Amino acid sequence: MSKTKPNTVSATSSAAAAMTTPAQLERLGEHLRKLRLLKSGERLEALLQHAAANELPYAEFLEQVLGEEVAAKATKNIAMRTAMARFPFVKPLETFEFGYQPSIDRKLVQQLANCHFIEHGDNVIVLGPPGVGKTHLGVSLGLKAIEAGYRVLFTTASALIEKLTKAHAEGRLEEKLKLYTAPRLLIVDEIGYLPIDRGGANLFFQLISRRYERGPMILTSNQSFGAWGEVFGDRVIATAILDRLLHHAVTMNIRGNSYRLKDKLKAGLVRPHEDNGSQPGGEI
Ligand code: ADP
Ligand code: MG
Repeated sequence: MSKTKPNTVSATSSAAAAMTTPAQLERLGEHLRKLRLLKSGERLEALLQHAAANELPYAEFLEQVLGEEVAAKATKNIAMRTAMARFPFVKPLETFEFGYQPSIDRKLVQQLANCHFIEHGDNVIVLGPPGVGKTHLGVSLGLKAIEAGYRVLFTTASALIEKLTKAHAEGRLEEKLKLYTAPRLLIVDEIGYLPIDRGGANLFFQLISRRYERGPMILTSNQSFGAWGEVFGDRVIATAILDRLLHHAVTMNIRGNSYRLKDKLKAGLVRPHEDNGSQPGGEI
């Protein structure tokens, strides 16, 4: 029986091809282009042949065409929003090795990946020494937010402050503040790597005030909260910033070895980190 099947299929396919005239295909292609159903345009001939060969019911055929179009548009939309987010790299959460960093509460990260913190307007603050995966976690959670349909923007603290300072000098501060308030989730990486002057700290405070209780943020820092006074060059501003940030916030303290030293540690070339119980989150 199976021997005769290919002939049957090819006979049906040619019948299907015969049923659709080139002029009809041309017109269908034109309609799909006008409606910007580009995936359907690409796939139409193959889908028509498949439908005829398998004698698909009309509704099933339509479902297949529209289903592929919707899936293609969703993938394109995610790719576009990922590009707009300006991540330094694209690494999904699934690539994060929790086993390497036992001080991270895996369950908490999985919960954050559900993006409820975004709906609630909560901030996520990730503290820890260099190389422990702060940026990676920020990017991964940002990608989850994009998948959930949110607009995300990633920036380093120094780039953010540089842009705000320049805009302020050029009388375009309002415009720039809007740019950083508009995305549903703003990720500010590397607070504390470079010192911030008082003018910069003031501008950062203005942004934090705008987003307060409206726009959730993910912030990462290699400095404990207690050191933010020095980071911002002003204890009063640092306290005001922390007051708003921490009002609705989840803080993760990562204590562990740099992932960048993974292979060196394995080879015994460097000494592993010893947990001395210090709390990077500390007190102000
Ligand atoms: P941090 O921002 O804390 O300095 P990064 O997130 O930039 O560290 O991590 C440094 C590098 O190591 C990146 O390439 C990151 O993807 C990788 N990395 C860090 N921690 C992990 C981990 N637990 N699993 C997989 N990759 C990791
Ligand atoms: Mg980093």
